[in-house]
Amino acid sequence: MKAAPDDQLRLLDLQALDTALDRLAHRRRTLPEIEQIDALDRKVTQLTDDMVLVETEDSDLGREQSKLEADIDLVRSRMQKDQQRLDAGQVSSPRELENLQSEIESLKRRQSDLEDDELEIMEKREAVQSRLQELRDEREQTSTGLAEAEQRRDVSFAEIDADHDKTAQQRAELAATLPDDLLALYEKVRGSSAGVGVAALHRGRCEGCHLQLNTTDLNRLREAPEDEVLRCEECRRILVRTAESGL
Ligand SMILES: [Zn+2]
Repeated sequence: MKAAPDDQLRLLDLQALDTALDRLAHRRRTLPEIEQIDALDRKVTQLTDDMVLVETEDSDLGREQSKLEADIDLVRSRMQKDQQRLDAGQVSSPRELENLQSEIESLKRRQSDLEDDELEIMEKREAVQSRLQELRDEREQTSTGLAEAEQRRDVSFAEIDADHDKTAQQRAELAATLPDDLLALYEKVRGSSAGVGVAALHRGRCEGCHLQLNTTDLNRLREAPEDEVLRCEECRRILVRTAESGL
């Protein structure tokens, strides 16, 4: 293939722009914030799940407490009724009186047991609610961290995208000035050579594969017409001669 030496040199400029675009794309993909956001997002979900469990525990305990309070009310009103009967002097039979007094005693014990149970539940609820508050605080902190990381990511995205647009514009303008066949060869080699389709020959070394060319190859390059498009024998990339090629 033939191409004007100037076009060959400008192909190196095109490569520099493509490499810059590749770097920007890589940077966009590998921003540390992306991993941070993912981890924080998963943590918020986990904390929310934990909160649902603890909230359920709290409402179960709340139901248990209400039931105990209703039971205590029942016992208390039954005791009051018994006490009123006693105080009113309505009970005259000694046996009935004894029964009534013994019922009041047993109601008192029942009340005391129920109140102990309620106290125990209230203590459990206190622990559960303080755990819930801890989870709520931690989730809030995590959400704040998540929002901050998202903001940093978006700032970086905006910078990278602006750089990308500018570089892509320069690349399009430069590519429009190059012959189609040279461009097609470059794209083909670039696609199969880790994104580098063309390299300069610098002091006898291919800048694509960084290998030193042997004397035979160098002699062949030296004798080639200047408009001939050369390829590196080692990596098959397009090899461009410059003032520093050492030929
Ligand atoms: Zn090479």
